[in-house]
Amino acid sequence: NKISEDDIRKSVADNDVRFLRLMFTDINGTLKAVEVPNSQLEKVLENDIRFDGSSIDGFVRLEESDMVLYPDFSTWSVLPWTDSRGGKIGSLICSVHTTDGQPFTGDPRNNLKRILNEMKEMGFSAFDIGFEAEFHLLKLDSNGNWTTEVPDHASYFDLTSNDESASCRRDIVETLESIGFEVEAAHHEVGVGQQEIDFKFDDALTTADRVQMFKMIVREIAKKHGLYATFMAKPLQGEAGNGMHTNMSLFRDNKNAFYDNNNKFHLSNTALYFLNGILEHARAITAVGNPTVNSYKRLIPGYEAPVYISWASKNRSPMVRVPSAEEINTRLEMRSADPTANPYLLLAACLSAGLSGIKAEKMPMDPVDCNLFELSQQQRDELGIKPLPSTLHNALKAFKDDQLIQAALGEHLTQSFISSKELEWSQYTQTVSDWERNRYMGY
Ligand code: GLN
Ligand code: MG
Ligand code: MG
Ligand code: MG
Repeated sequence: NKISEDDIRKSVADNDVRFLRLMFTDINGTLKAVEVPNSQLEKVLENDIRFDGSSIDGFVRLEESDMVLYPDFSTWSVLPWTDSRGGKIGSLICSVHTTDGQPFTGDPRNNLKRILNEMKEMGFSAFDIGFEAEFHLLKLDSNGNWTTEVPDHASYFDLTSNDESASCRRDIVETLESIGFEVEAAHHEVGVGQQEIDFKFDDALTTADRVQMFKMIVREIAKKHGLYATFMAKPLQGEAGNGMHTNMSLFRDNKNAFYDNNNKFHLSNTALYFLNGILEHARAITAVGNPTVNSYKRLIPGYEAPVYISWASKNRSPMVRVPSAEEINTRLEMRSADPTANPYLLLAACLSAGLSGIKAEKMPMDPVDCNLFELSQQQRDELGIKPLPSTLHNALKAFKDDQLIQAALGEHLTQSFISSKELEWSQYTQTVSDWERNRYMGY
């Protein structure tokens, strides 16, 4: 899907595009944008749009606060809604460069490209990713703010045609299709108000870009339906949380390097080594894949979210599952990450861990095909099954102890990530909650 400068010029003219939205992602995974009128198109195409990076989370470095946007033409899309005068908005995802033209190392997207190059040097052609980002639809109050009331009381795969969630979900799917997504599945999830929409896997950079667009579209269409969409990991206590299952495979010469017809589960040794890398670095990966205080309220027993570091072919309680699949789809499904993760950082961390596993050529622990929650602590100890971190604080400790995962983010992003998350944790620990008052006021 090569798109040239001329294709973009033509698309701007044909679609009456009046604004150009240039987007990039900050350390927290938040999509940031600057919009310029179409009179600036030539400057956009020549990488000549500058901005002050000093107020962007994770970018702060005063000596290099002037930044330049290098749009990736292949990400061009005409957004399916108009401004109040009927003009359209064209969007491009950009890489952030410094004023001397170098890729800025604090840009998570540049960093993922760096790790993808390391992968190519090892002879692989692509890291293919399929995300399953779950979310909740919530009702708005009369002021237009979110509530914790859900618009439907359906459950997993329920077929309800007349509720607002189902109609909103269909609208999201059609909107995604209109900007070129291949939507493979859309269904109600287990929790009330909870939804899942899956689009086809593609290479890591494309999929990371797409999931950012996906979240933007979901939020926007929900708003049109008078609803609020949240990707928070555990928005409703006592209900299922939102995961972002990460399906991964490596390709070599257009062949799935994770597939071997002669091996158990049809997993090649390459896949098993990669898996071992993921398991060995699981605790630090969790900091990146589950980066909020609230993320850890999802990683508890009883809601199909993992709690233990292990793998299996069928059972859904471990961190990694091997779904049954055809050759091209043979993959590892990491079930721990949630949709609050910065997708660029998450994929850089997973890929680095996996590649280090391939270099080390060590087999993973045996798969455990039983419900891990039904085992006793002693049985888990005997099988060598360790838990995922139970809080952001513990995950951050693991991250700080893991040189490989830090190197996967690079120095700038590592420092920004640690200071941003330590601040978040310290604010949380200083918060006195309703739970505490209810529990302790009578003391
Ligand atoms: N919502 C579950 C989670 O937290 C996943 C449920 C599913 O997709 N089977 O990961
Ligand atoms: Mg799914
Ligand atoms: Mg799901
Ligand atoms: Mg899944």
